[in-house]
Amino acid sequence: MSTIVGIIKALNSGVKHLAVKRFTLRYPEEKLKFVGDGYQYDPVSGVAIAGYKGRHMLFHDKCTGCQLCAIACEGVAEAIGMVKVDNKWKQNKKAILPQIDYGKCVFCGLCVDACPFYALYMTNDYELSSFTKESLIYTPAQLAVKAHMNQDVQIAISKRGASHSAELPAPLKKALPPAQPQLESKLKETQEDKEKADDKGDTHG
Ligand code: SF4
Ligand code: SF4
Repeated sequence: MSTIVGIIKALNSGVKHLAVKRFTLRYPEEKLKFVGDGYQYDPVSGVAIAGYKGRHMLFHDKCTGCQLCAIACEGVAEAIGMVKVDNKWKQNKKAILPQIDYGKCVFCGLCVDACPFYALYMTNDYELSSFTKESLIYTPAQLAVKAHMNQDVQIAISKRGASHSAELPAPLKKALPPAQPQLESKLKETQEDKEKADDKGDTHG
């Protein structure tokens, strides 16, 4: 009896999927566009902003060279190495910045979670393939460049499944995180606090 019920359930499940829409993306002529700006994390509130975990974006003027991102990656993929650069910043006197080896990175986002200074985010850039292992290593300078993405196809999800859409579906539009402005204001506050603390330190020293 249980075998017959099992067969009926399996057939029912299969029949239901006959009515579900299918679509095929003609990549690379068509490129999938993701909702939002990519994965971000607000260290002050401890809240992550959902997004695609693609190539990282590093803000040199915010990075302190604290190495917390590299430490977070150590137990995962050892994809981050800290490298010395020529520039110097008030907040990064050692002038060291992370570089990322995308031959090792598993795109977990733990390095973004570990960064206390709003210096490291992930973007929607997923086109990272390369002919050599060496070119998968992104230097701090490369990580600072905003990715130029030509992604034009969005997915519309309905009861009948997913399909292509040039327009962002309304429910997803609502779900878009006001990511950057929110984080930018937090960053400003953090920097102001840090500068005040530095000034106090200078006065006492
Ligand atoms: S996203 Fe990549 S670089 Fe960052 S912690 Fe994960 S494996 Fe390491
Ligand atoms: S990216 Fe963030 S965690 Fe990594 S060294 Fe810079 S400030 Fe520290």
